[in-house]
Amino acid sequence: MIEIFFIGTGASVPTKERGLPCIVLRRKGELLMFDCGEGSQRSFLLHGFGVNRPMKIFITHMHGDHVLGVLGLIQSMGLLGRKRPLEIYGPRGLEELIETVERTVPFHHEYEVRIHEVKEGVVCETDEYVIKAILADHVIPNYAYVFEEKPRPGRFHPERALALGVPQGPLWSRLQKGEPVVVKGRVIRPEEVLGPPRKGLKIVYSGDTRPCRALVEASMNADVLIHDSTLLDNLREKALEDGHSTARLAAEVAKKARVRLLVLFHISARYVGMEHLLVNEARQVMENVIVPIDGQKLELKYES
Ligand SMILES: [Zn+2]
Ligand SMILES: [Zn+2]
Repeated sequence: MIEIFFIGTGASVPTKERGLPCIVLRRKGELLMFDCGEGSQRSFLLHGFGVNRPMKIFITHMHGDHVLGVLGLIQSMGLLGRKRPLEIYGPRGLEELIETVERTVPFHHEYEVRIHEVKEGVVCETDEYVIKAILADHVIPNYAYVFEEKPRPGRFHPERALALGVPQGPLWSRLQKGEPVVVKGRVIRPEEVLGPPRKGLKIVYSGDTRPCRALVEASMNADVLIHDSTLLDNLREKALEDGHSTARLAAEVAKKARVRLLVLFHISARYVGMEHLLVNEARQVMENVIVPIDGQKLELKYES
């Protein structure tokens, strides 16, 4: 299961109802944060994720509402005793920003902050997932991020394992993880006891963007697309001029990409209490749409 926490869902300036953009994915104890608008640290800490978890932060672009929160978060995590390194990925300029603040607002933290400036393509890969950066279409370079799990091992068949003479216990769990084991001098391969590999989850986060083809292609068949939906379509011209999307345009991207769930995000302060208008507009294009409030959590379960 992957949990998506919507820490901040607003655009440009915070309101009582919505903080600045910040999303956290929690997966097997690891935290993946996407954007960190100013003030995100407060609700991040209130969620009680723990400050010493394995954690990576991905910044989409160098606009204040998406990046300034990182500076305070780095310091607070130091004060609260973080020991593990913190990996931060983002566009050019991110390293200079963080280094300048570390120099001019002196503060000692014991843990290491590792900054990775990204280009299009794979920015981070583990045994279990890949994160790619895609250049979207904003007024300055904005990287959308595509999180995709690698296929998971297939379903374990205990009867096959027993028939091959593998006793229940630690050998079973090694086979389940896809490792071969040796029983009475014979190598048992995981394929002999597992079904076909199972699809992992795919989640895409646009950051600030106009609708664009690169994002449609990158979001193909995603489980969740979290897309800029700053304005309603009656303000389409203004949205496009400022490098943003409307609810309808976001839904058109999601529909073309055959996305399972569209999350409308980066909501202008002018729609406080009128979020249903955004959802209604997007639902004229595709059915499965939500507009989360700050603090809302979404649980993504595997199909099988
Ligand atoms: Zn923004
Ligand atoms: Zn922006």
